[in-house]
Amino acid sequence: MSSHTPHNPASRRLHAAAVASAAVVFAVVVTACTWPASAREPAATAPSAIAADTAGSVPGALPALEGSSGAVLAEDGGVADGTTVFDDVPAVSRLQPQLLEALRRAAADASASGIAFVVNSGWRSRDHQDRLLRDAIAEYGSAEEAARWVATPDTSPHVSGSAIDIGGTDATDWLAARGARFGLCQIYANEPWHYELRPEAVGSGCPAVYPDPTYDPRMKP
Ligand SMILES: [Zn+2]
Repeated sequence: MSSHTPHNPASRRLHAAAVASAAVVFAVVVTACTWPASAREPAATAPSAIAADTAGSVPGALPALEGSSGAVLAEDGGVADGTTVFDDVPAVSRLQPQLLEALRRAAADASASGIAFVVNSGWRSRDHQDRLLRDAIAEYGSAEEAARWVATPDTSPHVSGSAIDIGGTDATDWLAARGARFGLCQIYANEPWHYELRPEAVGSGCPAVYPDPTYDPRMKP
């Protein structure tokens, strides 16, 4: 990310870590849900902004950013590029069973239209979530701003296996239009890639989105 201007030791570490982690298999795959492209960019355009950042690396690569923490092990919820909801990796297999089942049914349906769901983040270990939070606080300079994007290990629906971050934009566009019939709902206006299961949505549609996670009662300490 170009925002990592090395002007202080912390930033230099961020920069160095970002460069060093570019070659690892399990890059820190963090969608803007957890490591936003930038709070200075409109949230709805973050995925394409991220894709632009990574253009030239892997053709067709989906939104993924490398945070400052280096590689994330699969056992902590790290995902390789191109991971799908059908893969047997902890980020996927440790999702709540009903969420995973709904995702797989939706993904199968979407595939008929040539659209693939890619998992940018799913289940995460508490350690992984804690690192994300500390990285976000360092990036944004305050816990208050970081809270707009990253939950704590106690409150994150990713840690409980109740949330998934999907890419790319064709998949999230498909989910925005058709996810409710599978009970899959966007929860936050600033995170169009973050989906959770809301079974009642099958009959009555998805609930209104929160502007950002700080409006979500579950995020209150
Ligand atoms: Zn998320």
